[in-house]
Amino acid sequence: MRTNRTFTMLKPDSVEKGHIGAILEKITASGFKIVAMKLTQMTTADAKEFYAIHKERPFFGELVEYMTRGPIVAAILEKDNAVEDFRTLIGATNPAEAAEGTIRKLYAASIGENAVHGSDSDENAAIEGAFHFAGREIF
Ligand code: UDP
Ligand code: MG
Repeated sequence: MRTNRTFTMLKPDSVEKGHIGAILEKITASGFKIVAMKLTQMTTADAKEFYAIHKERPFFGELVEYMTRGPIVAAILEKDNAVEDFRTLIGATNPAEAAEGTIRKLYAASIGENAVHGSDSDENAAIEGAFHFAGREIF
């Protein structure tokens, strides 16, 4: 995956609350082009692998439960400086600390159920995109 790309998930809470359309509108209005996208649901094994970096953290079990409880929207987004700009658009992990107007400030309920994922580096964006999409699903 090229380095002007990032990976996102609209997490189960966003799908449950009917926020898919509003969040995608904000993403595209902010200059991100969708180059891959699907509604999918992670298995427990998927979530444990995706979040393996957090496996020793006290919230790991809850995180896996949350991320597998219903469908997500997975997408790859393209924009100059995609990883950093998308992290700015989504805001801090804890919505109480997220800047006004950010997706987490607008749509996240708590530090655990925080509406969206955004890759934290170009390297992880490539790994995470490849985790969810086959080559022929990426445009
Ligand atoms: N998380 C949590 N409790 C915490 C920190 C994180 O439940 O104290 C969850 C939350 O859903 C977060 C995910 O674990 O988005 C991954 O954590 P990370 O620190 O990587 O935050 P992010 O990169 O998503 O902002
Ligand atoms: Mg992270």
